[in-house]
This record gives sequence, structure tokens and C-alpha cells, in this order.
Amino acid sequence: MKIALAGIGKIARDQHVPAIRASRDWELAATVSRHGTVEGVESFSNIAALLDARPDIETISLCLPPVPRFASAVAAIGAGRNVMLEKPPGATLTECRTLETMAREAGVSIFATWHSREAAQVAAAKAWLADRRILRLKITWKEDVRRWHPGQAWIWQPGGLGVFDPGINALSILTEILPDPIHIASATLSFPENCETPIAADLIFAHPSGAQATAEFDFRQQGEQTWTIEIETTAGSLRLLDGGAKLLIDGVIQEVPCGANGPLNGEYPRLYAKMATLAGSRGIDMDLTPMALVADAFLLGRRVVVEPFHE
Ligand code: NAP
Repeated sequence: MKIALAGIGKIARDQHVPAIRASRDWELAATVSRHGTVEGVESFSNIAALLDARPDIETISLCLPPVPRFASAVAAIGAGRNVMLEKPPGATLTECRTLETMAREAGVSIFATWHSREAAQVAAAKAWLADRRILRLKITWKEDVRRWHPGQAWIWQPGGLGVFDPGINALSILTEILPDPIHIASATLSFPENCETPIAADLIFAHPSGAQATAEFDFRQQGEQTWTIEIETTAGSLRLLDGGAKLLIDGVIQEVPCGANGPLNGEYPRLYAKMATLAGSRGIDMDLTPMALVADAFLLGRRVVVEPFHE
């Protein structure tokens, strides 16, 4: 199947292009970007031009930042194309629901991807937790924004999410592995005085059986980077490290499932395999749960102003 990639930035180059090229399902037939191109692939500077010129491309994968992504998704669905959305699936929940409704009416597929849910040990963590009672849960997601998001001004602008851009990955894993629903009870969001989005966030969750559940997100981390979820249950403890790539049960490292990190089987190859299945069946996969938690953190969050951020 032919696919076009729109928004040729960091994630498109690092993950989408290699995953599509390694896939048996997809052929990268075109790109859309104002500045970026992919060698050997036809390029367009705007989505309307692509949709006009290439009716043979049935699926468009959108890797733009969340705010400009909606207009491209509307255009693609309006032109009868399947749409794959990078995370977060939009700038607002209502936008995402609008896209889902449009896709249903147009009879095309739409996929809100959550790449971190495809990390090697997420499925194993979910299986282990399925019949356990949780006592305590702690997310620590601390990374250096200068290292991972160089030059990405959009992250500090309204709709760019700030530290929730990586933090939503933790929430996507959490909402995948927990057997129980969870919601935000309170939040403290730290905004640099010159930015529109938070550089750090502390969250407290309400858990149905009263488990203590917290998350700490921070974009100011120097040195070691931390993407960890720790869960204590009445029958043992779990630590998911490196964004879901490693799993320890009661302190013992668990073997990674065979081939889980191979070239045809990492996070993005798995997303593209799922998209192939959805496109083949006009399927819809629009789980907005992680985004609802982020929206709730913004609704409830106490705002603290911290020192300005300069890249
Ligand atoms: P990026 O490096 O800034 O790239 C985004 C691309 O979108 C740009 O190259 C730009 O290409 C295009 N674009 C179109 N309209 C834009 C606008 N108004 N403002 C900014 N760029 C615009 O960002 P990214 O890191 O690839 O992130 C894109 C999406 O992927 C985000 O939703 C992010 O959460 C997600 N993601 C990122 C990572 C990561 O590690 N970076 C990991 C997973 C998911 P042109 O200027 O050429 O049009």
C-alpha cells in the first residue's frame, strides 16, 4: 500500500521513514513538508497539492506538531484517505472526536498512535498486572528538553504541551497496563515565565481502590535520563524502565520477547503493522484516554511560575 508522510521533522526522519522502508506492507510514495524532503521520494510543499496529484496514495501519516496537524487531517479525510496520527492525536479532545466522526462518515481508517504502548515490555507488564491489586504507583519521567527537542519552539507554544509531550507517553503506557481506571486528583504545573506550556508537572491520581499514585514529569533533567514506572502490588512489584523497554519483576530483569526490538518489530514498525490492518478493514482506533488525563491536569492544575527557559 502506498503511504505519504507529512511533517518531515525529527520523528519522521528518526522513526517513520525507517519503519516504512522496513515494512512489507507500505511503500513511502510521497512526503509533505515546507522544508524537508526524503531522498528518492516525491515531495510536496502542502497537503492539498499532494491530495490533488496523488489519488493513488490511500493513507497519509501525519507527523506534524499537534496544532497544525488538524487541518491536514481534515483535508486528508475529506479527500477519502486513511489517516495515521502521531501522538498526541490533536491539540484538543474535541478536535480528535471531530476527526473520528469525519472518518466514520467518510468510511476511512483513523489511528491515534501511542508509540510507547508498543515498547518491548509493555504487554508483559500489562499481563503481570491483570489480576493484581495495586498499592502504590509512581511515574518518573525526566528528560533534558535541550537534548531531545532541540529547536522545537512549538513545544513551548499553546497546544505544544511542554513537558506533557513526553509525559503523555508515560500516561499512554499507564492507561494500557493498569487493570483499573485512574483519574487526576490534583496537579502542580510549573511554567517558565517566558513560556506558554509547563516545563515540569507533579500529578496525583485517584485510584479506585485507593492506591497511592503519582507522576513527576520534568524537562530540566541533566545527566541520567529517567522514564520509569514503578508499581507495588499485594503480590510483588514491577519496574518498567527506559520507557517500557525493560521490565523488572520483584527486582529480577525479565527477558525481552523474542525479536521485540528487531528491525521489523520495534515501536514504530508495530504501529505501521497495526495501521496496515486498520487500513485493510477501514478500522478506527482512537483511544483518547492519555490525552484526557493531560487535559484534566491542565483543568485542575495549580500554576507555578518558574525561571525563564532559554534553549
Ligand atoms: P519537529 O522536529 O519540530 O518536526 C515537525 C515537522 O512538522 C517540522 O519539520 C515541520 O516541517 C512540520 N510542520 C508543519 N507545520 C508546522 C508548524 N506550524 N510548526 C512546526 N512544524 C510544522 O517535531 P517532531 O519531534 O518530529 O514531533 C512531531 C510530532 O511527533 C509531535 O506531535 C511529537 O509529540 C511527536 N513525537 C516526537 C518524538 C521525538 O522524539 N521528537 C517522539 C515521538 C513522537 P516543515 O517546516 O518542513 O513543514
